[in-house]
Amino acid sequence: MKKYDTIVIGGGPSGMMAAIASAYYGHKTLLLEKNRRLGKKLSMTGGGRCNVTNNGSLDEIIENIPGNGRFLHSAFSQFDNQDIITFFKDAGVKLKIEDHGRVFPASDKSATIIETLLKKMSEYGVTSLTKTEVTSLKKTDDLFTVKTKDEIFQASRVIVATGGKTYPSTGSTGFGHEIARRFNIPLTDFHPSESPLIMEKPIKDLQGISLNDVELTVNKKKIKHDLLFTHFGLSGPAALRASTFIQQATMINLDLFPEMTKSELLGHFESLDRNKSLKNALKADFQERLLIYLLERVNLDPQTPLKQVNKKDLEGLVEISKKWKLPIEKTFSLEKSFVTQGGVDLKNINPKTMESRLVPGLYFVGEVLDINAHTGGYNITSALVTGWVAGTN
Ligand code: FAD
Repeated sequence: MKKYDTIVIGGGPSGMMAAIASAYYGHKTLLLEKNRRLGKKLSMTGGGRCNVTNNGSLDEIIENIPGNGRFLHSAFSQFDNQDIITFFKDAGVKLKIEDHGRVFPASDKSATIIETLLKKMSEYGVTSLTKTEVTSLKKTDDLFTVKTKDEIFQASRVIVATGGKTYPSTGSTGFGHEIARRFNIPLTDFHPSESPLIMEKPIKDLQGISLNDVELTVNKKKIKHDLLFTHFGLSGPAALRASTFIQQATMINLDLFPEMTKSELLGHFESLDRNKSLKNALKADFQERLLIYLLERVNLDPQTPLKQVNKKDLEGLVEISKKWKLPIEKTFSLEKSFVTQGGVDLKNINPKTMESRLVPGLYFVGEVLDINAHTGGYNITSALVTGWVAGTN
């Protein structure tokens, strides 16, 4: 039976960072991953380019972690998003910052990030076994016994980094929650988070249209971000964020011009070249397919010259542009959402170390915890930061 100081279960971003930190501080460290390769889910983030962190201020980062971001204050004081950026830069990775502070490798390849984490693991001497699924974890006195199908390992501390319950094909099937249950560690309820929205009647004519910085209002909550019309309904960051507030069929409100009041928008429409057709006069304000659709909804012919359109009809266009009601049927299921809301209850986790208050020596990091963030690099930030903190402590 092989003995280690630290065993990390799960090779996503949180597990890899935990293993690196543990080995960096001189602990004999083993990482066990059931997939053939490490970081399978990580490789899918940011559209396959790996949205490794976000460059926002700490306040912004915490604001973008609506599921218990404040729990991370103490962890961020040890290792934060800027430390993540420095970590990769020092390892020779060129990074770039895109809209909304999202940080990517300049290569646009998630492989760059995953290979760097692997390189650091090997540099500090982490033993990493892939195709190795942990099947059970037991504690006797101060020692944990970790069983896989073929082998048994022992360690004085174990870091559970098995992820949430979304996209189970990536390996995140909730094994860490089973471990928690076996040790009588409480879990909070699970819900889909960062989920696309299914509409009762998806608007086929608008499929593929993407809108920048529009505002959704859902159950009185306002969300300003980019939105995408799809074959099933709505996606893009605004829709994903809205999903947190949707438990049943509901009506959401879309404002295409959140920077203008209704009267300002009307004034703007009235100030356009009145000799032009509606289609041409409004060209700069709407994408063509969207404009045709909206004009049809308010019974206006796109070829009508603006000067022939009366104020009441123009007000109709303002009304739908500012208060477009979209009936939402439901979110995707938990498995098909991007992030898991719910997990190991933070009441029993030490925020300075990620160690369980109920089972000394047992740590939980990353999405297995009851922490959920918006897409945009915030979940990965939480995973890397909690991983680092557990690994160093
Ligand atoms: P995971 O990355 O889920 O890793 C857990 C690992 O544990 C897996 O490799 C799994 O195989 C392994 N494991 C599980 N059980 C066992 C076992 N019994 N034995 C051995 N190994 C085991 N977040 C963002 O911040 N920005 C984004 O743009 C973004 N985009 C996303 C896009 C998609 C399509 C998805 C699905 C998620 C996205 N996320 C994004 C969320 C982000 O990927 C996760 O929050 C993050 O990967 C969680 O990291 P983790 O290390 O906690 O868990």
